[in-house]
Amino acid sequence: MLQQPRFTSIPTRKARRWLIPGEEAISPAVQVFLSQRAFVRICAHAGSDLENEVGGWLVGVWCWDKTRQEEFILVQAIIPADHTRNGSAFLTFTHESQLEMLAVMEARYPGKHLVGWFHTHPRMGVFLSGYDLFLHNNFFPHPWQVALVIEPHSAVGGFFIRDQDHHLDGRHHYGFHEIHNGLERSVVHWKNLELAQANLAAAKKEQLR
Ligand SMILES: [Zn+2]
Repeated sequence: MLQQPRFTSIPTRKARRWLIPGEEAISPAVQVFLSQRAFVRICAHAGSDLENEVGGWLVGVWCWDKTRQEEFILVQAIIPADHTRNGSAFLTFTHESQLEMLAVMEARYPGKHLVGWFHTHPRMGVFLSGYDLFLHNNFFPHPWQVALVIEPHSAVGGFFIRDQDHHLDGRHHYGFHEIHNGLERSVVHWKNLELAQANLAAAKKEQLR
């Protein structure tokens, strides 16, 4: 797996910015851009078991915009982790599932990066537990790797992203940019997110037509 960023411009104009209210006060190390396909697949997997934690890996590209001096990741696909050893408040990445993930990365996503992981917290809310932080720091040590937590019952979710000093706060989560490639309608339905002001104005205009 290559561990160099791809040099490309940040696709802000092809994306809708979904915010957690109040998050603009803090700027994380990377911006997260999520494809609609990946979002839909994440939600489908998150809803596949409403009693137990489920999760998996986020696949995409780590990028660097030289002009704007901004680092960002594109999340394009997921690899679901197998369910064999999960419990209601416990998701683990076994040695076998790690090997399986690496095999899938090599076969299906050559040249892509492992940009992070996701898991659900049924009826628990959006945060990273001490164990989640341990997992993140051990298995996802790069500053640009992120953790996504979803609470499927209330349809809320958010990304945990390291700050500029590479520190990760398990109580503070962020929204993301939904890549829509032009005019595709939004697929985002999480109730804790709101559309950024600029996108809101554009959406209203669209409805008036
Ligand atoms: Zn957790």
